[in-house]
Amino acid sequence: MFQNSQDMRTNLSELGEFGLIDHLTKGFEPKLSSTVKGIGDDAAVLKFNDKHTIVSTDLLVEGVHFDLAYMPLKHLGYKAVMVNASDIYAMNAKATQITVSIAASNRFPVEALEELYSGIELAANLYNIDVVGGDTTSSTSGLLISITALGVAEKEDVVYRSGAKPNDLLVVTGDLGAAYMGLQILEREKEVFKANPNAQPDLDPYTYLIERQLKPEARKDIPPLLKELGVKPTSMIDISDGLSSEIIHLCKNSQVGANLFEEKIPLDPAVISVCEEFDIDSTTIALSGGEDYELLFTVSQDDYEKIKANPNLSIIGHMTEEKEGMHLITRANQKLPLIARGWNSMDNRDANEK
Ligand code: ADP
Ligand code: MG
Repeated sequence: MFQNSQDMRTNLSELGEFGLIDHLTKGFEPKLSSTVKGIGDDAAVLKFNDKHTIVSTDLLVEGVHFDLAYMPLKHLGYKAVMVNASDIYAMNAKATQITVSIAASNRFPVEALEELYSGIELAANLYNIDVVGGDTTSSTSGLLISITALGVAEKEDVVYRSGAKPNDLLVVTGDLGAAYMGLQILEREKEVFKANPNAQPDLDPYTYLIERQLKPEARKDIPPLLKELGVKPTSMIDISDGLSSEIIHLCKNSQVGANLFEEKIPLDPAVISVCEEFDIDSTTIALSGGEDYELLFTVSQDDYEKIKANPNLSIIGHMTEEKEGMHLITRANQKLPLIARGWNSMDNRDANEK
């Protein structure tokens, strides 16, 4: 992961607003042919011809969405781009441009914002996204970052939350629960550090989990993969709040029910072992932990052969008639109602008791 190497401290007032904007954005030259004019005028100018344009926006607030005690600013910048790009990929589209707006209190020197922007720049370069504008202002407390992402797709390729049909297969990319357990590890270490600032944490066993929390990767690869496989999902959503609440979103928007099979939920071995260490049920974490930024989608049964052997994709259930409801089928073959519980209201109870 990234190292924070900044010891200098230049007050924001030394550069002034325009100097700061120039300073932070000087490397952001447009790479894409759809960017006609990027940073530097009253507005950006984009050209998408006759395709559909996809727009999504997110606001991240210090103390609510991130804690700088364990979130380095470079990671925060990277993650802020991922959170937004993920929403574009969840429409089965290509992310193309972002605007970045920040409000920072004078607690943040220029060097801190440089760190933030180095993470934004790295993400934008790796994901082939142009940064085409934003806004910069001061805040009386803490840091706010708002990113608006744009994307593009052929109109027949766009996938909504609303197209799932009974008997469609329910599919998820990657594995679940690691970002939430990474956060648990970081919070535990923060408490240890408060009690004993000289303690040297051994975080090696938790590298994957911490990386999933601090440096998530959005699934840029999935829309082109689906195209290559010749599969168009009937519905799709990204997993920001936990599997159960996203399944419920798809079901409500598509007016269908779902059966999710516990034994099919993809878990990394690191999640299983840390759940044992914390004495938490790993299924609960996959269902209710958030911030995985994987994609959840449905496909017709006819597409089964095309996706069944793909290592990026796990078939975890199927859709049903709406009146059948939404259920988790446990390993013991019990049928429990799926309950939405976002990550910020998580506790250690089983996700299905209430
Ligand atoms: P305006 O007065 O129209 O708000 P600004 O002076 O704020 O214009 O912005 C000048 C240019 O810099 C615009 O292209 C704007 O989109 C861009 N910009 C401003 N703040 C940021 C930022 N934090 N990150 C990226 N681009 C920015
Ligand atoms: Mg402005």
